[in-house]
Amino acid sequence: RYWTLAKRPPPPWPDADTFEIRGAPIPSPGPGQALTRTIYVSLDPYQWGYKRRGVEPEGAPCHARTVAQVVESRIDGLSPGDFVFCTNGWAEYGLMGEGVPRPGYMVPRKLDPAQGRISQAVGVLGMLGLTAYAGMILQCDPRAGDTVVVSAASGGVGQIAGQLARMRGARVVGIAGHPDKCRYVVEELGFNACVSHLSPTFADDLTAACPTGVDVYFENVGGPVFQAVLPLFNPGARMTICGLISHYGDEGGDAGAAERAAAEARGVHVQNLFVGNYVESHHDAFLAEVAPWVASGEVRYREDIREGFEAIPAAFADMLKGANFGKTLVRIAPD
Ligand code: NDP
Repeated sequence: RYWTLAKRPPPPWPDADTFEIRGAPIPSPGPGQALTRTIYVSLDPYQWGYKRRGVEPEGAPCHARTVAQVVESRIDGLSPGDFVFCTNGWAEYGLMGEGVPRPGYMVPRKLDPAQGRISQAVGVLGMLGLTAYAGMILQCDPRAGDTVVVSAASGGVGQIAGQLARMRGARVVGIAGHPDKCRYVVEELGFNACVSHLSPTFADDLTAACPTGVDVYFENVGGPVFQAVLPLFNPGARMTICGLISHYGDEGGDAGAAERAAAEARGVHVQNLFVGNYVESHHDAFLAEVAPWVASGEVRYREDIREGFEAIPAAFADMLKGANFGKTLVRIAPD
């Protein structure tokens, strides 16, 4: 079984009729391929952009990064029972290896379960960890004494980005939705403060939490959240545009153009971020550095794991609306 788009174009945000389940025979692996059974489906904001822009062929399984277990292998060094990172999408089974279409930078790999929970291969020990590392450490280079602000602070990327800045000695301020998320960010992740963008006093709360202004802003959201950060930038501030989830339901336009122009007008050094540019050059080094911190608990990571294949569309909509808590994924088979 797999989930596919039931209608195109979908509405600004997915609803109960946006997706449908279809069936297909389980494929046999050709030379250089393996058949895998999906265990975890990663649900990420960019997937909504794929669907709205029509990147996926009509009737094809919805794209997603996945953690899966090998059922049958014609790939050297890969055996039945091995766990892998791959891109099966919202589907119970998939092929990996030669000739299987996938985004170029999402390179399938065998997982080492000793390195961490296998679910983390689509989170802190995978592309989301690398995203946070590339944006925060490589692009923004936070230092002791800096005030660093991270939006969507309790999410898949935000929780890591903030902890990496904290470990550099910066003063870290999160922005999140529900007050429970803000409490988690301060009490569990060790941010210095966290303010809720849902509060009517949000802009004032953020100003109070940043008494010496903002030196680094890790942008996951855009829109009104960005507008509250804008007046607080110090001269020479750095900003990474990692994502702009508040715009992902917009029709057309250049998401982020307004944010970039406004920040640059204040003298902020703005950089765009695309994790795919860092996979080949930095993934292995990142993993070697960060995996021990995750194992020791120095970097903590909350996952929001939903259960069952049928739960995927609702979990996806929840994640887009902020009704998730941590990195969102769905377990569709026992791990
Ligand atoms: P999250 O786990 O953070 O989930 C999305 C969160 O965004 C929600 O939980 C919600 O948190 C927040 N949110 C949603 N809508 C709004 C809104 N209108 N205003 C304010 N907050 C909102 O997702 P990820 O960690 O996977 O992704 C975070 C960002 O990173 C996204 O923008 C994504 O596109 C981007 N990204 C970019 C990559 C790159 O290569 N540049 C790679 C990977 C991710 P809350 O309840 O706290 O508001």
